[in-house]
Amino acid sequence: MEEYCTSAEYTPRHKFTLWLATWRRLATVDRLQRIGIHVPMDCIFCDSAVETLDHLLFLCPVTHALWNRLLVWLGIQRNIASWQEEVHWACKWARKKTRRGAIICCVFAMVVSIIGGKGTTCDSSQATSIVTGFTGRLPSTSISEART
Ligand SMILES: [Zn+2]
Repeated sequence: MEEYCTSAEYTPRHKFTLWLATWRRLATVDRLQRIGIHVPMDCIFCDSAVETLDHLLFLCPVTHALWNRLLVWLGIQRNIASWQEEVHWACKWARKKTRRGAIICCVFAMVVSIIGGKGTTCDSSQATSIVTGFTGRLPSTSISEART
């Protein structure tokens, strides 16, 4: 975990948000409720479940689709698992210390940062448009196909 969160390829924002997420300290609404801050409980992306860390990363159908789309773009075929298992999977790539591993880990940190940072600046429609706008800009081929 340590090498994953301190690698030099990440922006400070990505590092910090990923660090918060791995320690389960993102400001999700269930967490805010526990410390006395009352906000609507629904997920800002899908509006159909309570916003918890595990829901945001990646049980939510919207964020699940985003992460799945990025995995396809990275040329990876796998089923998305629980947040803890996704972190474990990303850490395995970080330990390989390869270019591919670095790209995968950067994309992972970026997607967690995009999803985890939504609460400070977005309402529901803005959050959804960020995700759809982001996926819309991805090329249709994976990065491994693009190199050939
Ligand atoms: Zn959701």
